[in-house]
Amino acid sequence: MFKSIRSRFTMIYFLLIFIAMIIAGVFIIRSFEDYNLNVASERLDDIAQIMLTELAKIQDGDLIANKNVIQASIDNHADIGLREEIYVIDQSTQQIVASSAEVGGRAVSDILSDALVVEGLLGNVMEKNIQISDTVRTKDKVYPIIGDDQLRGIIYLRYDLKDIYSSLSTTRRIILQAILTSLCVTIVISYFLSKSITDPINEITAKASKLAEGDFSQMVEVRSEDEIGELSKTFNFLSAALKASISEISSEKSKLEAIIEYMEDGLVAINAEGEIIHNNPKALALFGVEAIENEDIVGDLLSVYSSGRLSEDIGTKNITYRDKILKVNFAPYLDDSLQKAGAVFVLTDITEEERLENMRREFVANVSHELKTPLTSIKSYTETILEGMVVDDPETEKTFLEVINSEADRMSRLVRDLLELTSFDSASVKLKYAPHNMNRLISNCILKVKATADQKRQAIVKRLVDEPISAEIDYDKIEQLVLNILSNAIKYSGEEGIIEIDLKSYDRMFDIVIKDNGIGIPDEDMSRIFERFYRVDKARSRMLGGTGLGLSIAKEIAEAHGGTIGIQSVYGHGTIVTINLPYTQGVANSESDAV
Ligand code: ADP
Repeated sequence: MFKSIRSRFTMIYFLLIFIAMIIAGVFIIRSFEDYNLNVASERLDDIAQIMLTELAKIQDGDLIANKNVIQASIDNHADIGLREEIYVIDQSTQQIVASSAEVGGRAVSDILSDALVVEGLLGNVMEKNIQISDTVRTKDKVYPIIGDDQLRGIIYLRYDLKDIYSSLSTTRRIILQAILTSLCVTIVISYFLSKSITDPINEITAKASKLAEGDFSQMVEVRSEDEIGELSKTFNFLSAALKASISEISSEKSKLEAIIEYMEDGLVAINAEGEIIHNNPKALALFGVEAIENEDIVGDLLSVYSSGRLSEDIGTKNITYRDKILKVNFAPYLDDSLQKAGAVFVLTDITEEERLENMRREFVANVSHELKTPLTSIKSYTETILEGMVVDDPETEKTFLEVINSEADRMSRLVRDLLELTSFDSASVKLKYAPHNMNRLISNCILKVKATADQKRQAIVKRLVDEPISAEIDYDKIEQLVLNILSNAIKYSGEEGIIEIDLKSYDRMFDIVIKDNGIGIPDEDMSRIFERFYRVDKARSRMLGGTGLGLSIAKEIAEAHGGTIGIQSVYGHGTIVTINLPYTQGVANSESDAV
């Protein structure tokens, strides 16, 4: 009920004033009563003094005998007002001898206090307040009448306290009214007083709640220089400090978020229960999902983490997820009590890196192998000749030397092709662009391979364009390209095969299409056919003098010209190679799609 400071303040003030007023009221009333009773007592003493002086004049001290004199003296007593009553009681008969009030034959004990009468008759002066009825209260006092050293009787005086008590009750009422009035005033004052204290506190409380909800612009008005003012100032300082800290933290946070959001690597954080608590878009892209809920992913990450042994804390491991190879760097993060609260995984897609690395390894192995094969035969034939085993057989010796020569040729072809490719790889190749008539280029190429085709009785059919095409190309390179494709068509087609070469012109591009009806390429090899050293049938290719680099070089040349090269083949039926090139340089990429 009195939970609020305001109500407690009001209550405390109320009680303080109430208690103080009650104490003061009781004290005042008591003092007032005592004072009036003393005045009454002194008044009775005055009357008794006069009466005793008069009674002392009575002859022989016989009160009964002087009854009338005493009564007359009482009646004549000028001081007796309405409030006082005088009774003179004889000692021997203990009867009222004379009185100011009407006794009417009643006994002493009916009218007066026996106890006081007894005390008086014992010679004592004594007084007593007596409640005669509900409404009548009196102060009675007895005085002994002494004559010739003998107790003759007593004077019994009675003072009606009615007036005193009625003014006492009026005073009491006034004090009560004063108490009530001051309590009302106290309530009002204490209400406003406590309000002046609690209002700023309430304001601070309300603003602190808003502060807790994240509104850091909260400031309170400093209305005074007291403790409340100090509290308000401290709150404002706290609010400003919090705002500065939070804005610093949020700027750091947003910086961190931007870094995490746009970093090249994927990032996944898990808590101690192994649940994903954060991941960046790159991580989703790496796993190819919209949200990491997939148990496999979580499992993969956790396996890395636990297999990296938590005790070792930080580690790196590669995992394969579908067709990707991911390098996972992991490290734990700690909570307030420096316990591990989870782990952060940074994922880097190293698929391409690994692919290139594999290609490099494969390439080195291929080059070594390709060089080793002719070297081995050169070495064995040379050794045979040096050992003099064919000295007597010039025919065989010639054959051996021809083999050595052809193997050396192959090696030099291989080295030439490798150098060619390396120049494309290192972008050191500088193409010498100049306008050239493509009809003429194709005719020249056919001329160069005609002898080989004739050996296999193959027919080369060319279909050129009526309007000669002039294209901006590096003549030697494009010639090399066409020759590579043409010689493949010848190589991989049987006796009496037909090789067709078409030149097709479009808006800004043109096609050189070389078609044969040779052995074709199996479907499963199509995707790898442009790879370096890739050959469908290694033995056959080698036997036919191939290096396995022809198509790779052709592709490099076409692309260096801003063109493309495509291959279609039906195994056992033939192959079509389409070279698509731009007429001029600089427009190729934008136009190639349109063709
Ligand atoms: P190679 O020097 O072995 O001919 P290429 O790079 O020119 O090397 O060709 C790669 C492989 O592609 C060849 O070994 C061959 O198996 C296949 N190939 C290329 N052109 C043809 C074709 N016209 N017909 C059939 N197979 C072909």
